[in-house]
Formats: sequence, C-alpha cells, structure tokens
Amino acid sequence: MFLKHMRPDQLHEAIRKNLPLLLPAGCVECHGVHAALGLDMLVAESLCTAIAEHVQAVVAPSIDYGPTGWAVSGPELGTVDVDGNHFYLYVKDVLRALLLMGWPRIFVVIQHQGMDGPEALAFRKAGAELAFELTRSEKGLGWWGYQPPETHGNAFGRVRVRPTILPAAEAVCHGDHAGHLETSLLMYLHPEQVDLTLLDQRSFWYTDQPGNLARAASAEDGQRYFEAMLVAWIAEIDGA
Ligand SMILES: [Zn+2]
Repeated sequence: MFLKHMRPDQLHEAIRKNLPLLLPAGCVECHGVHAALGLDMLVAESLCTAIAEHVQAVVAPSIDYGPTGWAVSGPELGTVDVDGNHFYLYVKDVLRALLLMGWPRIFVVIQHQGMDGPEALAFRKAGAELAFELTRSEKGLGWWGYQPPETHGNAFGRVRVRPTILPAAEAVCHGDHAGHLETSLLMYLHPEQVDLTLLDQRSFWYTDQPGNLARAASAEDGQRYFEAMLVAWIAEIDGA
C-alpha cells in the first residue's frame, strides 16, 4: 500500500490498525560509470515495496535528493549535493506532518552513507527533536512526569531511522559504494540499469577494491543480498 494512493478514510484505517509507515530516503549520486545514479534510492524503494508485500505496512513517498557532500563525484558525473542543514529543516517538516497525521511508527529506510552520514543524521536529529517538541506541546509546560489524559501526543520512539542493511543481515551483506554488493543489488532489481562492460573504460577505487569487485557482480548475488535484507526487515517490523 502506498500513501500516495490512499484516501483519507484509508489513511485513518491504516493508522487505526497501527500499521508502520516506511519512508525510503536516498540521493542522486554517481555510482561508477556502470550503474544508475539513483542506485541507493532504487534499493531503498524496492526494499520498502517488498516489505509491504510481506507485512502490513504503508510506503510513503520517497525523500530523494539527500546530501552527498560530493563524496565520490561532482555534478559532472551526475551527483547532486544539498546542504545538510537545509535538508534537516525540510525532513523535520515532513516528519512533523507525518507524526501529526497520527502514524504510530515511522521507519526511515536509508541505503546511503550509513547511520552517521549527513542524511541519516538529519533524520535522527529531526526525529529526536520532534519527540520532545510534539510531546511537550501535547502535555503543556509540565510535560516531564505529567501524565496526560491520553497518550496520542507521545512522539517518543515513533521515528526510527534505520539502514537498508540491518545488523541481522550484515553477515551476508557488507555495505559498499557501487562495489559488488550495490552493483549486484541493482542487477537483480533493475538489470537494465547496469552495464558492467563500461568498467573497462573507467573504474574508481570503490569499484575495484580487492575482494569487492563491481565487475564480479551478478543478479544471483543481488537476489541473495536482497532476500537477507528483506528477512531482517520483516523481523524488525514484527518485533517493533
Ligand atoms: Zn550507494
């Protein structure tokens, strides 16, 4: 189920049933000359869609233009960078609206730069601040220890920022940038968006690491990685 496709009555029903909201977040960034610029976003979106096919969940519209810090390329190879502080203000507004909508659990699902990268940090900071701000505004000035008549306004723990590769999948999936893992994932999910022969023309340090070669990627490995990620995510949501 996609939030974009829902009417207000369906939204209210989903919230009443305590369904989690999955918010894919990514960036537009060069992933070598052999793979699509939106690799991170495509993996996060595919994962969220697959999760929602296995457990009851709603997939929110993606947050697509994340900060990259020009870490692996400039704009000449297709990367977009946005200021991390601007991004934080924007995603805080989005998260605030989703919390006020009433979603009990919002999972931000990120493939890009890990949980200490600027993108994840912006979501984590915004989510942590909203937990205090929304709860305080609901409870009034004496919010600490004061029990309100109902807990609707309690925003603590409702925003959870998580990587696409959860710890439970790390034994199978070793995160990289456009190396064997990410290239394989894209070959499995969107085979038309990878051309390994282009690696003969130009490669980068991150595509040519010993033991982690993009040119050794395969759709079969991508499927194995993706299924491990999915199993870990289903367990995460079931246990949350
Ligand atoms: Zn990536």
